[in-house]
Amino acid sequence: MNANRKPLVAANWKMNNSVAEALALVEEIKRQAAEIKGIEIVLCPPFTALPAVSNAISGTNLDLGAQNMHWEKAGAFTGEISAAMLRELYCHYVILGHSERRTLFGETDASVNGKVKTALASSLRPIVCVGETHAQRQAGKTESVVSVQVREGLNDIGADQLAAVVIAYEPVWAIGTGKTATPRQAQEVQAFIRKLLEEMAGARLAQSVRIIYGGSVTPDNARELFREPDIDGALVGGASLNAESFLAIVKSTG
Ligand code: PEP
Repeated sequence: MNANRKPLVAANWKMNNSVAEALALVEEIKRQAAEIKGIEIVLCPPFTALPAVSNAISGTNLDLGAQNMHWEKAGAFTGEISAAMLRELYCHYVILGHSERRTLFGETDASVNGKVKTALASSLRPIVCVGETHAQRQAGKTESVVSVQVREGLNDIGADQLAAVVIAYEPVWAIGTGKTATPRQAQEVQAFIRKLLEEMAGARLAQSVRIIYGGSVTPDNARELFREPDIDGALVGGASLNAESFLAIVKSTG
């Protein structure tokens, strides 16, 4: 953590929770989060639960994010959701380029870049996910893989706009596996990402961008991760489906 950057912890519920389940979970999170200050807490439910969750967190210290969106503004894109539709529900964040979307749904750095541009043009803050597979790490390619994802995913975006971007370093081998990166492994890559941002847009901008870690974060490992200077929070999958464990992670930022 670095005192100059506000910590951000986001819950990625993925394809889990009916509307009723989402509301029950939000009530619990709301209750436990009421006293927390100085941390951005972002809930990213599935699309179907966005309206209900949006309503439920109105006026609280919780913010809303979506898990994906399309790069076009509107049109014949069956099954897709636009940035304006998310804004209409008071979403302020959107997760883009999650490894599950890249692996299972063919997302590329070019499509991520299109989505990032549209999100920013619509006043949505993108949480851009990058990270290497186990095989890529074993082959010593972590930095080259992450470098391409960051440079291409954020291609042609001005420094003023980059300030609104959050980058989530999520090693693919750590997502949903229970194998968390060590604080040192995560710090190494996140410092590297900050260096890339500096090359792309200058030191000032690089120092202001939040870079969060994702991949099997739990209440047991969060505090150690957050001690690292370039880890500004977390993107939490599995552990965010339980209010107690999610809030324990949020509180570990302090
Ligand atoms: C994620 O899906 O973004 C994630 C980090 O999942 P988990 O915490 O379950 O590894």
